[in-house]
Amino acid sequence: MEVEIKEPSVELRDKIIEISGEDYHRCYQCGECTSGCPAAGEMDIVPNQVNMLLQSGDFERVLESKTIWLCVACFQCATRCPRGVDLSKINEALRQIKIRKNMDLFNIWEVASTGEFPAVALVASFRKFTA
Ligand code: SF4
Ligand code: SF4
Repeated sequence: MEVEIKEPSVELRDKIIEISGEDYHRCYQCGECTSGCPAAGEMDIVPNQVNMLLQSGDFERVLESKTIWLCVACFQCATRCPRGVDLSKINEALRQIKIRKNMDLFNIWEVASTGEFPAVALVASFRKFTA
């Protein structure tokens, strides 16, 4: 994977860390999370690459990925990580940021009715209105 170093948005960086309670800077790319992830085969950016891109400041690429909607929050990555990074929480934070940016309750129901809305997106959406 080619990684472009970008000037990170400080606001977005702080938001990801605040919502998730996780610091992706701790990741040192050992790949243990990806090798245990049951959804990695379907992801366009595998778990360790999520942290790599976040560290490089390329938040948009991660926010546009399928990966954040495919994470099933099984915590395999968290239990395997020697650095104590919980990617399920990072992915949840990214989903919430994406939803807060792009959606309101009305169009969540509209998209959900098409049957093409990932279930995990619905859960993340409701958190927006209950947090
Ligand atoms: S919590 Fe998400 S990223 Fe982590 S192993 Fe499970 S599916 Fe993969
Ligand atoms: S297991 Fe932890 S340290 Fe290793 S690549 Fe995954 S998040 Fe980074």
